[in-house]
Amino acid sequence: MSNRQVVIAIDGYSSCGKSTFAKAIAKKLGYAYIDSGAMYRATTLYGLQNGAFDAEGTLNSTKLIQALPQITITFKFNNEKSRNETYLNGTCVEDEIRTIAIADKVSRVAEIAEVREQMVLLQQQMGQEKGIVMDGRDIGTVVFPDAEFKIFMTADPAIRAQRRYDELKAKGETVDIKEVEENIRKRDYIDENREVSPLRKADDALVLDNSHITVEQQMKWVEEHLNRILEK
Ligand code: C5P
Repeated sequence: MSNRQVVIAIDGYSSCGKSTFAKAIAKKLGYAYIDSGAMYRATTLYGLQNGAFDAEGTLNSTKLIQALPQITITFKFNNEKSRNETYLNGTCVEDEIRTIAIADKVSRVAEIAEVREQMVLLQQQMGQEKGIVMDGRDIGTVVFPDAEFKIFMTADPAIRAQRRYDELKAKGETVDIKEVEENIRKRDYIDENREVSPLRKADDALVLDNSHITVEQQMKWVEEHLNRILEK
């Protein structure tokens, strides 16, 4: 395989296994992996901790926009836990941002144009040197419209809910599968229908429906396409 460095953009619906897939590709190629959703989640956590949501959980977008200059998001690899972790203003928030409380609010935060502007700039800086796999909702359409390899992932909502439920349960969160499926459908709806950078497949993205295939089969699929792209 050629050692030309490229950008791999993975977009798609919530809980499609994008991050597991993206991490596996990055590991295989020795590329950096960036979870763009973690950045929106960390911004949501900041908002929750700093009064941008009222007692009913309604977002005050003006407050959050004003707070944006105070938000710094970085990633660091934790060797002990063998995982990439998200830092909000120097504090590791990797576990807090994965809770259903954050999942419930993040899509509202991700609708705000000013939030997206700040995140996209940061993401583009991270990808300047190429050799990166990034997953999200607007990576192939907005963040890296010139990415050499764009993948759009999808899967049956009920299968996605079951996978997400198993993941949360394994982490010790008490959740109801109906609540998980509702959250996924709600986020899909908001992500697809927002005004700024809605979730959609880039015209040149390849669709991967992983409802009934394993991670190994997905890797085989990606390798075949990557070989072709790198040979160009
Ligand atoms: O990927 P993940 O589920 O962690 O993303 C959380 C939320 O962040 C999504 O539901 C979406 O609202 C938002 N997001 C986004 N654009 C991205 C990544 C995530 O709007 N590039």
